[in-house]
Parts: sequence; C-alpha cells; structure tokens
Amino acid sequence: MNNGPSPQPLSSGPIARRGLLFVLSSPSGAGKTTLARRLLEVDKDIAMSVSVTTRKPRPGEVDGQDYVFVDAARFSGMRDGGELLEWAQVFGNHYGTPRQPVEAAVREGRDVLFDIDWQGAQQLAEKMAGDLVRIFILPPSGPALEERLRGRNQDPVEVVARRMAAASAEISHWAEYDYVVINADVDKSLASLEAILAAERVRRDRQTGLTAFVREMQKSL
Ligand code: 5GP
Repeated sequence: MNNGPSPQPLSSGPIARRGLLFVLSSPSGAGKTTLARRLLEVDKDIAMSVSVTTRKPRPGEVDGQDYVFVDAARFSGMRDGGELLEWAQVFGNHYGTPRQPVEAAVREGRDVLFDIDWQGAQQLAEKMAGDLVRIFILPPSGPALEERLRGRNQDPVEVVARRMAAASAEISHWAEYDYVVINADVDKSLASLEAILAAERVRRDRQTGLTAFVREMQKSL
C-alpha cells in the first residue's frame, strides 16, 4: 500500500502525438457527408480538410467552407506547383487536397478529416501511410443507395445515373481500407467512427511523447 503523499502529475498536458489523417470514402449517396458533419459536431479535436475543386458550387455550398472553388487554370497551377497532397478527377471535375494545412496539422498533433475518393486515399497511403486511418462507408443495399441518390434531388437525372454507374466502381475499392462501416443507421455509424478515432489516437506509434513520459515516470519509481 502506498501511504505516501499523493502522486504528482507526470505531465503538464496531454502526451505529444502526431495528428492523424481520418479518411472517409464511399460511393456518392452512402451518407458520408452527413457522417462527416456529425463527427465534426461531436468531436472538436478534428477539423475538415477543405479541398479545392473545379466543380461548380451546389445550392447552399459555401466557398472556403465546403470547397475552395477554382477554375481549371488555377487548379493546374496548384497541382503543378506541388501545392496539392493528392488530386483526382471525379465525374469530370478535378478535386485536390491542399498540402500545407495537412502537413502542419499532423506535425502539431491535430487530426484532419477527409471526404475524398479511393484515388485520394491511395495517394495519401503512398505519402503518409503511418498517419493514415482509412474508413470505407458502404450503403446497406443497392436500392437504398439509389433511393438516397434520387432523394438528394439537387443533381440532374443524368448525373444521378452516372453516379449509380460509378458507385459499383468506387465500392470495388472497399478492401483497400482499414475499416468498413455499413451505414444502415447514422447514429450507429457515427458511434463506430468515434470508437475508431478514440482507438487510433492512443496507438503507441502515434504518441511521440511516450518515451519522455515513461522515462520521467520511472524516475519516481
Ligand atoms: P462531390 O462533388 O459530390 O462533392 O464529390 C465527388 C467525389 O469527390 C466524392 O467521392 C468526394 O469524396 C470526392 N472528393 C472530394 N474532394 C476530393 C479531394 O480533394 N480529393 C479526392 N481524391 N477526392 C475528392
């Protein structure tokens, strides 16, 4: 039994760690955007990576918040100037992740949430594999996906048809991901994402301050 003075805290703050890159991919309409928004609401320690895109804004989308909307020339300039960590062409438009904010966040121990496709996830895996946590969101069924795509009602019919055809191709990449969440119930899926995030944050190799923390602790033993 230790009857001595109550132990002093060994660390003045949380253990230093690298930020992680939390990637959500799914076919369009599987609920990924809703899940990303809900995760940002409940977890204040993760921030969204805002992509640049050549796609036109949809009604309600805010420049600088949902995307940074750019023209093709600006996109090419950023890509060729090394300003993008990854980029891809999706449904005829270009999308890319600005490099600087992501690299700064990881260095400073802040977590970043990505809503990007399988092409982006593959490029991040080539460049920052140790920091990456990849989650694939599946719809509960084909008809459920089709219903969600039609329900959105913001895109022209031919765009919906194209996305249905593309869904199968996107889904074929499911096995490249670390986790797969079947989104039948948004609350349950959100709980899964929170659990994954909590576990990944305490991975040993991510907690760069552990060696110093344990060394300091051993001095008092
Ligand atoms: P939407 O036009 O519906 O917002 O997005 C279309 C697709 O592009 C989605 O699957 C989305 O995840 C993906 N996407 C959005 N931003 C990026 C990005 O910066 N990089 C990549 N690789 N994909 C992106």
